[in-house]
Amino acid sequence: MSNRHPDSPIFLFGGTFNPVHYGHLRLVENLHNLMPEARVRMMPSATPPHRDEPDVSAEHRLNMVRLATESLNHVVVDDRELKRQGPSFTSISVEELAKEFPSASLILVMGDDAMAGFQSWHQWQDIIERVNILVIARPGATQQWLAPEVEQSIIRCDHVESLLHNKAFDAKVETLSKPMETFKSTGRLYRYQCPLLDISATQIRQLITRQQSCRFLLPDSVIKYIEQHRLYH
Ligand code: ATP
Repeated sequence: MSNRHPDSPIFLFGGTFNPVHYGHLRLVENLHNLMPEARVRMMPSATPPHRDEPDVSAEHRLNMVRLATESLNHVVVDDRELKRQGPSFTSISVEELAKEFPSASLILVMGDDAMAGFQSWHQWQDIIERVNILVIARPGATQQWLAPEVEQSIIRCDHVESLLHNKAFDAKVETLSKPMETFKSTGRLYRYQCPLLDISATQIRQLITRQQSCRFLLPDSVIKYIEQHRLYH
């Protein structure tokens, strides 16, 4: 990981990861296939601002992400939100990362369910000043729409491949309806269609609570950790 170039693009993939599962990990592999030179930073949130606080501690959730990704050298587990006090605002993490990696392009990855509520995120305008966003369609989820204020502040780009060729893409952006923003290299929203697995952490927690098997939905090492610590029982 550390020998990657400091300019390599960074996919920022946050979540509660309660627990991390193969749906998350398959997405990470798709991102790696899409852009092998990029790093994927998985960033568990300590106190998610947009949902109820998970009953499993942030430390356990972080440990599970570490176990699940220990053999993946294109993944960095980023624990900054656990080290900070207060809600895990993405705007703060993005600001910090932009300072740490001033010449790297930051690409925030999220499901369309999360993107549909983006206008309620703390300082969302600051976030899109600093990143591009890659939205993925969650399997089984219905199509979600952007809030009008977000729609007006973002440049929609359909071709994810253009992320790979930013320069060639600049010419294309001029044909979009927002010529004023042509020279901005952030604030773009890409939709990414890739085969995903219809797995959710909710489904896994329910199986465990009902004492049913959750094998093949998440790595065995994580299942073992859950059993050892009697999580979700
Ligand atoms: P829960 O069921 O508790 O809501 P979850 O499985 O949705 O959890 P999160 O930790 O909330 O997992 O998700 C983190 C990020 O991963 C979000 O952007 C979410 O859209 C995405 N994600 C979750 N499950 C999948 C999946 N099966 N495939 C692709 N992306 C996923």
